[in-house]
Amino acid sequence: MACTIEGKVIIITGASSGIGEAAARLLAARGAKVVLGARRIERLEALVAEITAAGTEASGGEAVCQATDVTSATQVQALVDLALERYGRVDVMINNAGLMAIASIHKVRVEEWERMVDINIKGVLYGIAAALPVFQKQKVGHFINVGSIASHKVAPGGAVYSGTKFAVRAISEGLRQEGGAIRCTMISPGGVKTELPKGSSDQTTVATLEEMYRTALPAETIARAMAYAIEQPPEVDVNEIVIRPAAQAF
Ligand code: NDP
Repeated sequence: MACTIEGKVIIITGASSGIGEAAARLLAARGAKVVLGARRIERLEALVAEITAAGTEASGGEAVCQATDVTSATQVQALVDLALERYGRVDVMINNAGLMAIASIHKVRVEEWERMVDINIKGVLYGIAAALPVFQKQKVGHFINVGSIASHKVAPGGAVYSGTKFAVRAISEGLRQEGGAIRCTMISPGGVKTELPKGSSDQTTVATLEEMYRTALPAETIARAMAYAIEQPPEVDVNEIVIRPAAQAF
């Protein structure tokens, strides 16, 4: 694998907004062929059209998308299959889709717990299950799993979200240890300006989140971190990147 982003086939889950959308734009602009998944297909189609229009004959502008719910192993497999059909290989699998439903554990919001476990943990595992056999066959590949500051710390209201993001960190570390030439990067963002806080329906949490997100970073910040990990030479495995707004204490 060359030490560049140009020409790499990069799958991104959760590409319809926020960090995934910013990553699609930035990586495509640097010459990657991006394969985009999320549930809101109309948003993905608009992004594919934008990326295609922005491409030049020499570089960029290669994007495809498919409606993908990461809680379905079959749909995640179909997204990887699309990448193989179109481009014949997969260089990077970015497991980015996520849900943050912040609420006191005492509120016992079991349905939200289940959704977070299904999207944040099982969604990442389905991404690994679908891409790993391809990477094994190619003898090379790269996972980028999006964790969070909540992969490292717990705060009131964040017990279950942190639980799912701690799991992403554990899974990423295990994957790294057994990876060999298959690289694994976990990125842990602090506050980033995206739609993520909308996943929290608990009204007592909204004010705290609004305060925290006042200093949030643009999503492109995290996309640049992904690009940094991807463009390293094959023998360099960037394992963890933690990025907070300078003003964020948590
Ligand atoms: P957004 O809410 O803007 O994006 C979340 C993305 O995940 C959307 O594209 C959404 O697409 C997708 N998604 C949600 N559920 C599913 C599903 N079942 N199947 C497929 N896709 C799904 O938030 P961010 O961009 O901020 O979130 C991206 C990642 O970054 C998440 O893992 C989040 O936990 C993490 N993160 C974000 C931080 C922040 O402050 N913003 C901080 C730390 C971590 P759709 O609804 O169309 O399916």
